[in-house]
Amino acid sequence: MAHVVGPEVVKYACTCGLLKSISSLYFCRYCCQLRCGFCVCHEVDSHFCGKCCENLPSSEARLKKNRCGNCYICPSCQQELSTRIGSKGPSNPEDPKSTPKKMYYLSCLYCRWSSRDVGIPDQSAATGGWPDRENVNANRLQEIIEMYKAMVLAEKQQKEKDKKKQRGKYLSYTDRTGVTAAALRKRIGLPVDIQHSLLKAKPKEPEPAIAKEDVEDLPEELLTKPVNLTEVTTIEQRLLQIDLQPTTVEKLFPVHKQLSIKRSLRCRSCEHNVSKPEYNPNSVKFKIQLFAYYHVPEIRIVTVEPLRAGRPSELIIKFTNPTQHQTTITILSLVLSGDENEVKEETGDQPSLPQEKQPPSLSSQPSSLLSLSSRQPSITIKPRPVSQEVNADVAIPSSKVILPPRDDAAEYDDSGDTHNIQDDPKLVVWRKSNKAFVKLLVTPKQGLALNTEIVAGFTMQHIYTNTIATTVENREPDKHDHNIRVFLTLGNLVGFD
Ligand SMILES: [Zn+2]
Ligand SMILES: [Zn+2]
Ligand SMILES: [Zn+2]
Ligand SMILES: [Zn+2]
Repeated sequence: MAHVVGPEVVKYACTCGLLKSISSLYFCRYCCQLRCGFCVCHEVDSHFCGKCCENLPSSEARLKKNRCGNCYICPSCQQELSTRIGSKGPSNPEDPKSTPKKMYYLSCLYCRWSSRDVGIPDQSAATGGWPDRENVNANRLQEIIEMYKAMVLAEKQQKEKDKKKQRGKYLSYTDRTGVTAAALRKRIGLPVDIQHSLLKAKPKEPEPAIAKEDVEDLPEELLTKPVNLTEVTTIEQRLLQIDLQPTTVEKLFPVHKQLSIKRSLRCRSCEHNVSKPEYNPNSVKFKIQLFAYYHVPEIRIVTVEPLRAGRPSELIIKFTNPTQHQTTITILSLVLSGDENEVKEETGDQPSLPQEKQPPSLSSQPSSLLSLSSRQPSITIKPRPVSQEVNADVAIPSSKVILPPRDDAAEYDDSGDTHNIQDDPKLVVWRKSNKAFVKLLVTPKQGLALNTEIVAGFTMQHIYTNTIATTVENREPDKHDHNIRVFLTLGNLVGFD
């Protein structure tokens, strides 16, 4: 994919101020804004096994520790293991009619590891029954997990109780039946506050670990024998079986394959889905796919003349209209602070520059990307300035570029139909169906050092035709201008004027 849309020389500024290539952006049709991975909520839609394509409900997936019960991966190279058939001699060698018995074992087709290497007995059924290795600390781990579960529950109850106390002041004692639950409990002799009685049952704490001084000595052969590295496991192999952490290769056991998930993405501002996959694990299609690539004109650099400081160079870029509607592109000068689409807020707080990864407009929810399963509240994404520096000026053309709608059949049409569009010959140098080559003049700024990377930028305004906003009275699709800041990495400075 990297060479279809990359290398990333053309970047679009997301509403949050981060620069992304068009292939990693979404377009929310309801907000009419670009959204990057940080501007959408990631939610787990379904769990499935990538090998046997079994779909599991999330509760079952949690119970199975997010691993498939039937599929295994190679403990040596982490590729999938396949079941192979071996044969065992006839049960009765004297009887000529008795046939050899089929036996099954697991084998890796990549590194030739097999379950026979570590002495796992062959199975008579292909579907498995492969022995699972018991973790020696399983009981203690379970105890600790139970304790934490109990603590979470107790905390939740305490919170609810506090909430009730606050509400209690104004609560009427008569509900629909005329008797409150508390009054009823009192009448039949039960403790009034059920929460309180539950709270008293403190979670049982497991025995604390004891530090001890006398530790087993290291085996002597470690110091005397030369180390055979082919017998020692790598860090990856050890971490794959975190509960056992085998040190030598003969202790490697097949590992259950981890489940994969399908994610749906939701716009953080309006909570509408921008991407939703189909439930079936066999399908790679989407129910909703509002990728920017399908809604926003794509820009590619065609040619650029050698860049010299202070001298205009000719830059030819290609615009492609991916939509089913005609659009008009206007090139405007770049505004680095804020987004022109948004109403600028007249507040005193200074917008800070975007940091490394997470945009600051979302930093109020630092853990939100981690808690994948829970629904996150909608927030308003404020426009932020872009940290990218621009060191070349783009001469802003006075005319506009009209792009006809996408027509897949036009790819095979050699008639050179230009849709009778009267182009400014200084601006549009070539066009075919929904594509147009546009000539711009860029001038790298004076005083730059040789080999400096030249970045030019402009604001692309395109007319977006929104088909979802049609109401009963207004059957015409809604058209409005959408501005996107685009940054082009043109190459290095080769000389001076
Ligand atoms: Zn963003
Ligand atoms: Zn599976
Ligand atoms: Zn392998
Ligand atoms: Zn939205």
